Amino acid sequence: MIAHSDIEYTTEENEDGHDCDCVYATCRTTGCSVGPIWGHHERSIRRALATLSQECDCGGFHQVPKRRLQHDHS
Ligand SMILES: [Zn+2]
Repeated sequence: MIAHSDIEYTTEENEDGHDCDCVYATCRTTGCSVGPIWGHHERSIRRALATLSQECDCGGFHQVPKRRLQHDHS
């Protein structure tokens, strides 16, 4: 089963006090969210969704459409 989820691209302060790119992933079914996962890269998104699949109670596999993995930094 595929679970729908939203990816939020944002920045957070890391341990050194620098703003770093990160993402949060939120399940649309349960509202469960994970993050920050550092980076705005495709692998960051995949890690966020894999983590969400472990933490979320909906029992689905979280993924986003491929086109949404591309993020424009401009
Ligand atoms: Zn879920």
